[in-house]
Amino acid sequence: MPTTAQPVTNQPTTGLAYQQCIMPRCGAQYSVDEVRTSCDACGSLLDIVYDWDALPVPKTLKWFESKWSRRNEPLCRSGVWRFHELLPFAPPEAVVTIGEGQTPLILTNGVADYIGLNHDRLYLEYEGMNPSGSFKDNGMTAAFTHAHMTGAQRAACASTGNTSASLALYCCSSKLMKAVIFIGSGKISYGKLSQALDYGALTVQIAGDFDDAMHRVQQISKQLGIYLVNSVNPFRLEGQKTIMFRVLESLNWEVPDWIVVPGGNLGNSSAFGKAFHELHQLGLIERMPRIAIINAAGANTLYELYENRGLRWNKGEPDTSIVNGYYAELDSEGRRADTIASAIEINRPVNLYKCLRALECTQGVVREVSEQEMLDAKAQVGANGMGCEPASAASVAGAKLLREEGVIGRDERVVCILTGHQLKDPTATVAYHTADQNEFNRVLGSRGVSRAAYANRAVQVENDLDAIVRAIQLNS
Ligand SMILES: *Cc1c(COP(=O)(O)O)cnc(C)c1O
Ligand SMILES: [Zn+2]
Repeated sequence: MPTTAQPVTNQPTTGLAYQQCIMPRCGAQYSVDEVRTSCDACGSLLDIVYDWDALPVPKTLKWFESKWSRRNEPLCRSGVWRFHELLPFAPPEAVVTIGEGQTPLILTNGVADYIGLNHDRLYLEYEGMNPSGSFKDNGMTAAFTHAHMTGAQRAACASTGNTSASLALYCCSSKLMKAVIFIGSGKISYGKLSQALDYGALTVQIAGDFDDAMHRVQQISKQLGIYLVNSVNPFRLEGQKTIMFRVLESLNWEVPDWIVVPGGNLGNSSAFGKAFHELHQLGLIERMPRIAIINAAGANTLYELYENRGLRWNKGEPDTSIVNGYYAELDSEGRRADTIASAIEINRPVNLYKCLRALECTQGVVREVSEQEMLDAKAQVGANGMGCEPASAASVAGAKLLREEGVIGRDERVVCILTGHQLKDPTATVAYHTADQNEFNRVLGSRGVSRAAYANRAVQVENDLDAIVRAIQLNS
């Protein structure tokens, strides 16, 4: 049962939360009552900013434990809204929640062995446990709440699959809005497409890829006045901050050494940076963790710009010519993002500049991993825990790479974010484990994957009792 108050239209602004241009040089401010995804003055992204001094902020993170005994209240049960005091842009009665964020942090020594970490050092934050099966619900509940506050009737997104599944779910369970989703052709996995269709979203499949769909949805939402919930929406990132609050909660409020996260549109990494920056500002944590963002090699814009071309936030004065030059190259060479990790198959990440800021304040690093590395890591996650979709495994593959380089120490405490559920993309999983070479080649060989070191092949056996007994004894 979704929980919501009566429609809250024209909610008077409290004035304690506002939208602000991320560029220090501009800093234009807008009310939280406005629906916008960029700054009028300079076109940059927006942050949600709070007047913390005038807000009731807890003195310690431990204070949030007082909410645990009130789990019968929807706002305390939600893994997002029990941290309401740290994202106080909406009055409690405006919040729309479907019980998102009930996600576990799992100590996984089998994967620690694979990465090369000491035991009791590696944790997997399992965001696949969300109602729509990915971390996107953390952000969607926040953006959806804001959409509802502003009286929106329709909400739209472009999606590689998980954002649309999440939006469609919030729309159909709350019945507050109609979902309009844009997807590229042929790229979306069946698991994700099936969710959007099942949840009754108006699904527009355009001839193009995600970057094309993203461009169109921004035009359409402007033209038709539809509320846009892509991660250019600053409210999404407010919800996604809580993934880090829950990581800290699970670690008894201790800050880990590393957070490792896949990078697609860079909403998560940006939100994580903002979360830790704010906690630090508020005196709720004493030190910052480092963030490692992992691209797929086939969609490696951030890696290329940050590690190879030296792009930096530079205290709010990034050299935009590096970015524009790179995008011009992509265009002139006709290069498109291409990876089996469809959730991060993105070449023009919309949150690039916010992400650079997060990298600066967390002394972050960026790496790229191959399809082979992602799929092997994914198989290791599956064999040692709850499983994940290919994009999520980039975090584990990236942690392994950073261990090999010595950037991450053997005894450091590492949290890898598993962004999406194993069942989102069964095609990739089955192809990895198959004994059918043709099927392997069709799905994976064409992507440069040559082996499946951790394949668990189904045993083919005649329908004969003795033969079945022999097969089991031989294989166990
Ligand atoms: C959206 C998504 C990502 C990418 O996250 P960003 O915040 O866009 O960088 C990674 N993995 C999964 C499963 C996703 O759904
Ligand atoms: Zn601006």
